[in-house]
Amino acid sequence: MKEIYCQHCSKHIEDRGDLVVVQQGIWAIEPYHTKCYGAVAKGLSGLLVSGPINSRVYSLSIILTVIITIVAIFLDIQGIIKLVVLFYLLYVISMRAWSWLNYERHVST
Ligand SMILES: [Zn+2]
Repeated sequence: MKEIYCQHCSKHIEDRGDLVVVQQGIWAIEPYHTKCYGAVAKGLSGLLVSGPINSRVYSLSIILTVIITIVAIFLDIQGIIKLVVLFYLLYVISMRAWSWLNYERHVST
């Protein structure tokens, strides 16, 4: 288990309920305490999906993206659009997986 430190106050994050993983830019993700996230949230800029990655809202947006992707695959639309939708699906899933691998699994529930 590696120790996770908050990007805002540099203190140890001990509890998963107190961990907020936030997307920063396109590929970067950063861990914060719940209260620290509240303090820095306004300055953060996620791409397309903003807000905490380890949240119900994010999980819901993945489910929605899965549905949109399935619908797009069966629609008679240009292949490039299907590719873009598919790429976006892979992107949101990999951000979620990255957050879990890097931070969430190291913090006790
Ligand atoms: Zn903090």
